[in-house]
Amino acid sequence: MNPPEDFSRFIADHVSAIPKSGIRDFFEVVQSMTDVISLGIGEPDYVTPWRIREAAIFALEKGKTGYTSNLGLPRLRESIASYLSRRYHVGYDPKREVLVTVGVSEALDLALRAIVNPGDEIIYHEPSYVSYSPSIVLVGGKPVSVSTRAENGFSLLATDLEPKITPRTKALLLSFPTNPTGGVLSFEELRSIAAVCRQHDIMVLADEIYSELTYDGVQHVSLASLPGMRERTILLNGCSKSFAMTGFRLGYACAPAPVIEAMMKVHQYAIMCASIMSQEAAIEALDHCAREVEEMRNDYQRRRNFVVSRLNEIGLPCHSPKGAFYVFPDIRPTKRTSLEFCLGLLKEMKVAVVPGSAFGESGEGFARCCFATSLVKLQEAMNRIETYVKKLGAE
Ligand code: PLP
Repeated sequence: MNPPEDFSRFIADHVSAIPKSGIRDFFEVVQSMTDVISLGIGEPDYVTPWRIREAAIFALEKGKTGYTSNLGLPRLRESIASYLSRRYHVGYDPKREVLVTVGVSEALDLALRAIVNPGDEIIYHEPSYVSYSPSIVLVGGKPVSVSTRAENGFSLLATDLEPKITPRTKALLLSFPTNPTGGVLSFEELRSIAAVCRQHDIMVLADEIYSELTYDGVQHVSLASLPGMRERTILLNGCSKSFAMTGFRLGYACAPAPVIEAMMKVHQYAIMCASIMSQEAAIEALDHCAREVEEMRNDYQRRRNFVVSRLNEIGLPCHSPKGAFYVFPDIRPTKRTSLEFCLGLLKEMKVAVVPGSAFGESGEGFARCCFATSLVKLQEAMNRIETYVKKLGAE
């Protein structure tokens, strides 16, 4: 028998049906070019703070190279519980309500796999992180999007959420501060959303990965800390963004014990445990790195201020995000689609930003720029964007 030429019959239908991430397609073009200033990838430009790296090195030196408990190192689960209680006033039992995962990516997948039956509807807000809709589809669920809008600072309004709820709705996937818009929820908005979830008896998967990155004195409020919400929330968080630890692949999920038990079953068969060196490093991060986080946050805020003011000056209206490290300017004044705008900017000016359409239909007309890059590069990128926008205006 000859080796197959067409593999499509071997690939599962539900996997064939999902599109590749729009960001990935775009970055294949970026990687084939030289001297590009990339505001594309959602990743801190900082190297992980030294004391965290040192903790990982120390773990290796001490010969900590084996598996850990499936739930994660008990000492790390204690650090997670005490960090969440200290920072966000929400209490979890480290023995039964905390699960250490390979990034929030794994925690999200486990949460969906643990709760979704075929055809269950999961509501998420759009523009959204690229993984949400495909992750829901991959577990047999039905993604239902709710649009958020620039005029509301891309917050999710309870009045937009409620009409999307049906008898098949299992959960809301809520992520604030949010990617790609940098939107946050005010306490009032969060309270209204919580009330809708309680009233309709739905769960919430709260992806709070950007919880440390809030600006202008905004303090992140964890959904689970609201009355009656801890019982119906799967809180997802991790070290990637707050502590500049993307490569460590370290996240966690906190929820009532029966939910963690269900997630743990999937995790123990699929992954077993997160890397022990990363777990040791995360203990150091959560216990001792508040000062480093503060420094990074202040620096991001300075960069945000610069980028927002330049983009508005250039004629691309841009709200000032209160969280995460993205700005989401409106590129419609250039009369281009977001893909045309971004491809042209890349080819003509060698600046990479992501088309808003990669984050769902409601992202069309916008572009995502990550400002977690040096001020010098941001200055040059904004100058190049200005030249490009002027040129488009003259055409
Ligand atoms: N959730 C959101 C909203 C994100 O933006 C990202 C990464 O960009 C993730 C989850 C994945 O994070 P992790 O590195 O912890 O897997």
